[in-house]
Amino acid sequence: MNQQQRELLAELVKGWPTAMQFDVSMASYSTLRAGGKAAALIDVYSLADLRFFLEQLHEEQLVFRVIGRGSNILVTDKGFPGVIIRLKGEFEQIELAEDARRGDVVQEGPLLKVGGGCSLARFLSWCTQQGLAGLEFMTGIPGSVGGAVRMNAGALGGEIGDRLQSLVLLDGQGKIITVPRSDLHLSYRKAELADKDLDALIIAFACFVLRPDTQEEIRSRCAGLLAQRKGKQPAGVASAGSFFKNPSGDAAGRLIEAAGLKGHCCGEAMVSPVHANFIVNTGKGTVTDILNLMELVQDRVFQKFAVRLEPEVEII
Ligand SMILES: Cc1cc2nc3c(=O)[nH]c(=O)nc-3n(C[C@H](O)[C@H](O)[C@H](O)COP(=O)(O)OP(=O)(O)OC[C@H]3O[C@@H](n4cnc5c(N)ncnc54)[C@H](O)[C@@H]3O)c2cc1C
Repeated sequence: MNQQQRELLAELVKGWPTAMQFDVSMASYSTLRAGGKAAALIDVYSLADLRFFLEQLHEEQLVFRVIGRGSNILVTDKGFPGVIIRLKGEFEQIELAEDARRGDVVQEGPLLKVGGGCSLARFLSWCTQQGLAGLEFMTGIPGSVGGAVRMNAGALGGEIGDRLQSLVLLDGQGKIITVPRSDLHLSYRKAELADKDLDALIIAFACFVLRPDTQEEIRSRCAGLLAQRKGKQPAGVASAGSFFKNPSGDAAGRLIEAAGLKGHCCGEAMVSPVHANFIVNTGKGTVTDILNLMELVQDRVFQKFAVRLEPEVEII
């Protein structure tokens, strides 16, 4: 990004709630607490601003990437050459959308329209207050709605895609595209569209159908699920959750542990002694430490079991 483009970007967002930041260390925006630099980063608060901004980026031929809570990303030391966008304000809201177009999911309860930037924790807490059930399995996942849909995040037998009714997406020129659930191909930690690259699109809003239940029942299920996580996963350390996808019919953590790698370190990145599929940053671990450890784990597991582990973390 040249100086003229930087000046243009700074000018474009004048008067927005937050200023454009340049040469931003993505370590501050990743739960792994490591990351290369992004050329620019901006928080966008409204659909109108986002559409306008995307049009300008398109004209300048600048690339962008939306992130949520950074709980599944690692930006390499090469850095990101364009603008990192975070969705705030209007994109953090939750509303009942009774009149929205019904999709192919059996209508069990009210339809909810949730901003892509809304945190899963806030969404779940809101659902509990409203007596709306169906997403309790997301308890303890520290992401945003957009990030969770993009990754088809899930736990303990449930996936966010199970309750999805439709998506409101924006393309790289700010055009709004509404996609019913039936056009989405959802598989293990993956959401795809038949005719478009989801990586080039922004999940502005997601619509869900939940079912009514009592607050007590929902709270009790959330507490039970949280208890299941406790003790099995490292707590209070920097990580991106499960680092590798589970290979078909097996668990990445089981293979890594059986390869004798629990507690193994590269610099200050360590295979968690609590759960072998968590790579944790024990202090000032760098991107290189994490990637070296990732490759070491992949090589050792391949040598021992002829299984190539694929990262679940999005390496940018
Ligand atoms: C302690 C811990 C536990 C975890 N447990 C689980 C678990 O049980 N199950 C599970 O599935 N995951 C788990 N994760 C991983 C992670 O929390 C999820 O994948 C989460 O859904 C990612 O959301 P995010 O907002 O942080 O996305 P980010 O990490 O910010 O982004 C992830 C990807 O989504 C894209 N993206 C983000 N927002 C948007 C948007 N609005 N539009 C388009 N693309 C977007 C990004 O470009 C990137 O490609 C865990 C992580 C941690 C740290």
